[in-house]
Amino acid sequence: MKRTYDAAVIGAGIIGMATAYYLSEAGMDLAVVEKESIGSGSTLRCIAGIRQQFSTPTSIGVMKESVSLFSQMEEEFGFPVDFYQDGYLLMAHNQKLEEVFKSNIEVQKKEGVNVSLLSPQEAQSVVPKLNTQGLRAAAYCPDDGQAYPFAVLKGYKDKLDEKKRDFYLHNPVVNLQNKKNFLISLQDGTVIEAPKVLLSAGPWTAELGKMMGLDLPLYPERHEAIVTERIPRMIGPMLVDYRKDGCYFHQFLDGHILGCYSPHPNVPGIRKDSSLEFIKEMGRRMVRLVPELEKVHILRQWAGCYTMTPDGSPIVDQSAVDNLYVASGMCGHGFMLGPALSKHLAHFMVEGEWDTDFQEFSINRSFESKESLK
Ligand SMILES: Cc1cc2nc3c(=O)[nH]c(=O)nc-3n(C[C@H](O)[C@H](O)[C@H](O)COP(=O)(O)OP(=O)(O)OC[C@H]3O[C@@H](n4cnc5c(N)ncnc54)[C@H](O)[C@@H]3O)c2cc1C
Repeated sequence: MKRTYDAAVIGAGIIGMATAYYLSEAGMDLAVVEKESIGSGSTLRCIAGIRQQFSTPTSIGVMKESVSLFSQMEEEFGFPVDFYQDGYLLMAHNQKLEEVFKSNIEVQKKEGVNVSLLSPQEAQSVVPKLNTQGLRAAAYCPDDGQAYPFAVLKGYKDKLDEKKRDFYLHNPVVNLQNKKNFLISLQDGTVIEAPKVLLSAGPWTAELGKMMGLDLPLYPERHEAIVTERIPRMIGPMLVDYRKDGCYFHQFLDGHILGCYSPHPNVPGIRKDSSLEFIKEMGRRMVRLVPELEKVHILRQWAGCYTMTPDGSPIVDQSAVDNLYVASGMCGHGFMLGPALSKHLAHFMVEGEWDTDFQEFSINRSFESKESLK
C-alpha cells in the first residue's frame, strides 16, 4: 500500500507529536509513524520537570514560551494536563557553581524570568525539610514546574484525531529514500510518500539519519528514575543537587515523588535496563537532602534515554538533505522544550523560514560552547 501526504513525522514522542500538531493546525495533511506506541521512547519515561533556568537567551526564551504553552493546554485540549508551578531550586555546594548561578541569573532576569539567588536559610524557608549542610546558595524560580506527560501527549493525539490525521503505530520505518519525494517504507510493507519529513525519533534519530547518509552528532545515554509511594505534599520545587553524587527529584501533584541522578561516568547506548546500584544510591542521595524521606517506600524504578549532543543543546533544523528535518538531542530536556521548539519548527517546515532565531540549535554549529545548566 502506498499513501501520500504533505509531510511525515517519524517518532511519536513529545517532539514528533507536538510538531505534528502544529503542522496539522497549519493545514498540512500528515502521517505520524511510530515503531511502538505513542510516547514509548523517552517521553513517557521522563520525570516531567519544566524549568526556565537555562544559560542562554535562546534556551530561556524557548522555555518561557513552553511554560506559557503548558499553561494554555487545559483550555486548548479541554482537560487538565496537571501543569503545576511549584518551582525549581538549583543548589550550589561550591563557589564555582554559585558564580555560574549568579551569571546565569543575570541573563535570566534580563529575559524576564522570575528567579533569585537564595541563601541556605532562604532555601530552607522554601523547603523547610531541606538539609542545607554544605549548601552555599540556591537559584530559585517559583514559576518553573511540572506537567503530566501522558495527558500532554493525549492532548496532541486528540487534536490530530479531530483533523483525521493518520497514525502508523507499532510499525517501524525500515527504509528511507529520497526520490522526487521521500519514500518511507514501514515494516508492514506500507510506503509513505511525502515531500517533507521530520526525524524526531529521539535516541534512534542518528540510525534513521544514516539511511539518508547523515552523520548526526547524537549520543544516547541511559538514565534511570524512581517513583515513591504517595505521601502528603512536603517538598514543593524540583530539588536539583549538582554535587557529583547529587540527584534531582520533585513531588508530583498526587503525592508521588519522582527522581533521577546522572551517573558518573555516563552509561552510553540505547538502554532501558534498570540497576540495583541506582535504586540503592538514589535512596541514599534523596535522604541526604531531605532526611524525612527515610521511611518513604520506593514503588518502582525504570530507565530511558537522554539523547545528548556535544554541547548540551538540541539539534532542530533542516538537514543537509533538502526538506529532511531533524529534531533530536534534547539532552534530558525534551519534555519541557517540546511545545515551543516544535511550534517554531513546524512554522519553519511550513513557511521555509524561521520565525525566531534558532542558530543555537542549528545542525551546522560548532558544538564548542556548553550549556552550563545541564
Ligand atoms: C529518566 C528520565 C528523566 C527525564 N526527565 C525529564 C524532565 O524532567 N524534563 C524534561 O523536559 N525531560 C526529561 N527527560 C528527557 C525527555 O524524556 C526527552 O528529552 C524527550 O522525551 C525526548 O522526546 P523525543 O520526542 O525527542 O524522543 P522520544 O520520546 O524518545 O520519541 C522518539 C520516538 O521515535 C520512535 N522511533 C524510533 N525509531 C523509529 C523508527 N525506526 N520508526 C518509527 N518510530 C521510531 C520511538 O519509538 C520513540 O517513541 C527525561 C528522560 C529520562 C530518560
